[in-house]
Amino acid sequence: MKLSSLFSQKIPTLSFEVFPPKTSDTYDSVKSAAEKIASLKPDFMSVTYGAGGGTSEYTASIAGDILNNFNVTPLAHLTCVNSDKKKVESVLSSLKDKKIENILALRGDILSGEENKKREYKYAASLVEDIKKYGDFCVGGACYPEGHPEDLSLANGIEHLKEKVDAGCDFLTTQMFFDNNILYSFLYKIREAGITVPIVAGIMPVTNGKQIKRICALSGTYLPQRFKTIVDRFGNNPSAMKQAGIAYATEQIIDLLANGVNAIHVYSMNKPDVAAKIQENLSEIIPKRT
Ligand code: FAD
Repeated sequence: MKLSSLFSQKIPTLSFEVFPPKTSDTYDSVKSAAEKIASLKPDFMSVTYGAGGGTSEYTASIAGDILNNFNVTPLAHLTCVNSDKKKVESVLSSLKDKKIENILALRGDILSGEENKKREYKYAASLVEDIKKYGDFCVGGACYPEGHPEDLSLANGIEHLKEKVDAGCDFLTTQMFFDNNILYSFLYKIREAGITVPIVAGIMPVTNGKQIKRICALSGTYLPQRFKTIVDRFGNNPSAMKQAGIAYATEQIIDLLANGVNAIHVYSMNKPDVAAKIQENLSEIIPKRT
């Protein structure tokens, strides 16, 4: 199913994310985690693309497994900045062979030391265009409610986001955020800028306090005081942190749904127990489709 058809139904949706293995020896454990999450029958599952693209075939194979063995719609991520047109075409061909219809088109991060390298792709918008030209895919892009670290300003980022949507994005998925007011303000600004495609809210249930402080410091993600207090209090107790992180994410999701944000994507990070708990917490709010 194309995600554009799912979103056009304007019903609450719950989806999960998995990331592929970095090396072949962990392939089986990642596949097994992805299968456990798929057996929860979410509305769709995204499979990320390894930074640099070295393990690109795992994305296609895990996405294909989710679709063919669990009948769960996959969203395959694809990055371009460290790749070229020939490689992109071969990935598209492999996705098409596996009957995967949805792609999240990303630029990817520029590898350190390669900032001045000549490249065929500079921004995700060109990848969006190429995928649309290639064939019948539903294409999404990434967006950043707090701005991308390379943006001169949030307004400047939104101008480039509009170009990316005009290149053919059918929907956008957000970077994680921990304060819903940041998303509501961003939604107001992008709608004003003429971006009308569905927005999928990316929610990260924090299960490792130290790790999240590091990631947020790098990406500039705002941590509300209430969230910091939870991490300070429970960060050294992994099972308490997991329970508190799931509760915080659940509350965030309920507030989003109450305010009309229908598409919820959980960065479940290959953790079936976290995905299952969030789904259970929302069982009456987003009933499982049969
Ligand atoms: P772009 O949309 O190209 O934007 C990158 C920057 O360039 C922004 O600052 C933008 O404003 C600016 N820009 C765009 N166009 C122009 C222009 N014409 N002139 C000047 N500036 C411009 N990474 C992975 O490696 N694998 C993944 O699977 C993955 N999944 C992700 C999923 C989501 C939901 C998100 C939010 C991020 C994901 N990332 C992933 C990380 C992503 O690759 C990085 O954040 C990357 O730095 C930017 O990618 P983008 O597609 O947003 O880039």
